[in-house]
Amino acid sequence: MSVASFLAAEHPTAFSFEVLPPVRGKSIEQVFKTIDRLMPFNPAYINITTHRSEVVYRQIASGVFQRTAERTRPGTVAIAAALKGRYGIPTVPHVICSGFSRTELENVLIDLSYLDINDLLVLRGDRAKGESRYVAEADGHQHAIDLCRQVSEFNRGMMIDGSQHEPLGKEFSFGVAGYPEKHEEAMNIETDIEHLREKIEAGAQYVVTQMFFDNSRYFSFVERCRKAGISVPIIPGIKPLTSLTQQTLLPKTFHIDFPVELAEQFRRCKSNDDVKSLGIEWGIAQARELKQAGVPSIHFYSMNASASIEAIAKAVY
Ligand code: FAD
Repeated sequence: MSVASFLAAEHPTAFSFEVLPPVRGKSIEQVFKTIDRLMPFNPAYINITTHRSEVVYRQIASGVFQRTAERTRPGTVAIAAALKGRYGIPTVPHVICSGFSRTELENVLIDLSYLDINDLLVLRGDRAKGESRYVAEADGHQHAIDLCRQVSEFNRGMMIDGSQHEPLGKEFSFGVAGYPEKHEEAMNIETDIEHLREKIEAGAQYVVTQMFFDNSRYFSFVERCRKAGISVPIIPGIKPLTSLTQQTLLPKTFHIDFPVELAEQFRRCKSNDDVKSLGIEWGIAQARELKQAGVPSIHFYSMNASASIEAIAKAVY
């Protein structure tokens, strides 16, 4: 069963999370360790993020620099295959436009087809570090919807050179991103939801939200989406707080607000351990309310937070 079909079917609120590929040169063992401690809570699926290449200037001689593009966290496709084999549960690699040409994306889809990995999260991806706005690769995609269309055409056996083939394997089914507090570039929440609706029309079967700390933002986002004609499952994404630096880092990076009560408690934290305790307490309250509301799954952003997620899952599942 695809992740999309699972999410659409009746079931108790599931548990899922995302992992990041290790930094170049680091072993996959750390990813296994994170997952091993979360496996007792029966994750329904595991997402694996994708990170674009970044421009790096390396000094090759005195005063001479070479410009290269390097990916600090390669390996998404291989990790998706390794985790599926090791844990026997569906893996959902993220496929992003940012830093990829359409040909490179087609190559990724071919690799995933051959590996029989048929669940994707389709995204535009973050802009390059140091860029003030997103710039597509030559022959790349401007928006996630363009990649949704490429995947849907690939499902029909249509390659980017226009040639038509028998489909390579099972169809891909995929989700897309949604933003309860609006995407930073959107003119307003209405246009953002309109673009989300278009991604569903282009073949996306569910939505995973950006992290939020105020459940009322999620509930009103779902209500707005339903009014706009979006009927697919909308999976809440949450992240336990773990460090003092997140007080400014999370609002700046993800364009989200801390609710007043959380902000007050966060301000009183003196150490990362205080923040971790607060993150677990807040995460449990958030997850309990979401579960009570009958959401199809709660998706946890796991970076540096696996111990906190374990504590939340223990209390909630
Ligand atoms: P889009 O859907 O293209 O939207 C981007 C902006 O363009 C929005 O403001 C939207 O309103 C607008 N827009 C959309 N379509 C159109 C259109 N047709 N015409 C005009 N405007 C339009 N980033 C990574 O690099 N790697 C990851 O693995 C990753 N995983 C993520 C997982 C989740 C669950 C979420 C929520 C985000 C993730 N991101 C990841 C970050 C994401 O790539 C960024 O937020 C990115 O800036 C937007 O991606 P998107 O897919 O929402 O883009």
